[in-house]
Parts: sequence; structure tokens; C-alpha cells
Amino acid sequence: MSNTERTYIMIKPDGVQRGLIGTIIQRFEQRGFILRGLKMMSVEKSHAEAHYADLSSKPFFGGLVEYICSAPVCAMCWEGKDVVKTGRKIIGATNPLASEPGTIRGDFCIDVGRNIIHGSDAVESAQKELALWFPDGVCEYEHAMKPWIYE
Ligand code: UDP
Ligand code: MG
Repeated sequence: MSNTERTYIMIKPDGVQRGLIGTIIQRFEQRGFILRGLKMMSVEKSHAEAHYADLSSKPFFGGLVEYICSAPVCAMCWEGKDVVKTGRKIIGATNPLASEPGTIRGDFCIDVGRNIIHGSDAVESAQKELALWFPDGVCEYEHAMKPWIYE
């Protein structure tokens, strides 16, 4: 199978507090992606800053770090064909009001600063983010559904 990738998906504190973990997992799982890593985590300021290092010069950076550290997040690793780009499509646009209905952000949120979910934007950033959030690796196992999902 070509284009098998892994991506870092994170349900942000507002998604966790609003009880959307199950709904979000269901969307990725039902599509056929494989869950390789899953954990609840209270995020240290330095860890949130490292995750969003590329945005450190933005005016919203301080508020963003505070938001990510305000309550636990649900950190996940999902695997599948083209999962990085497809994951971003499932999530929707950064600004929820610009997200299509049917996407996670388009269905469940309104403000850009409370957009409930993160998804890696490229294969290289996914690798960096997975190394940061899952330093001990993820769960390697054979998925029984694979031949029923991939030709
Ligand atoms: N963000 C914000 N205000 C902005 C732009 C972004 O608060 O004007 C937050 C928002 O939570 C977003 C995160 O910063 O999800 C990371 O921004 P990025 O541009 O990487 O968007 P994403 O990749 O999450 O769609
Ligand atoms: Mg981003």
C-alpha cells in the first residue's frame, strides 16, 4: 500500500471539556484510519510552546499556549493512506466559520481560538509532532480490517 502515513491529531481542551472525544475518534475510525496512539495529557507550557514553535512570533501565540494548557488534551496518532492531507480535510479550515459543514470544525465550533482540534499540516511536521508527543513510539499491530479497506 503506497502513501501510508501517520499524522498527529489532538483534541484540544475545549473539545475534551465539551465531550467530543468519542465523536471525533469515530469520524477517523469510520473512515478507515488506524488508531496507533491515544493518551490524555495535561500539557506543560514549554511543551505547548515547542509544539507551536513555528507560530511563536504571532500575536495570538501567548493566548494559544494558554488555551492548550488550560485543561487536558487528547493526543492521537492516526495511520493510513494520505492521512495527513485527508485528516486536514476531515478537520476543516483553521477558522471554523470558514469550515464546511460536515467537517469537524464546521460542525462543532465557531471561534478560531476555540477550534477544538489540531491536525499536522504536512508529513514532515507530522513526524516532528509525533516525536514530540509520543517519544516512546506508538502501538505497532496488524490491523484486521486492512484488506477490507485497501485494494
Ligand atoms: N489560531 C488563533 N488565531 C489565529 C490563527 C490561529 O488562535 O488567528 C490558533 C488556532 O487554534 C489554530 C492554531 O492557532 O488552530 C494553530 O494555527 P495554524 O495556522 O497552524 O492552524 P491549524 O493548522 O490548526 O489549522
Ligand atoms: Mg497548523
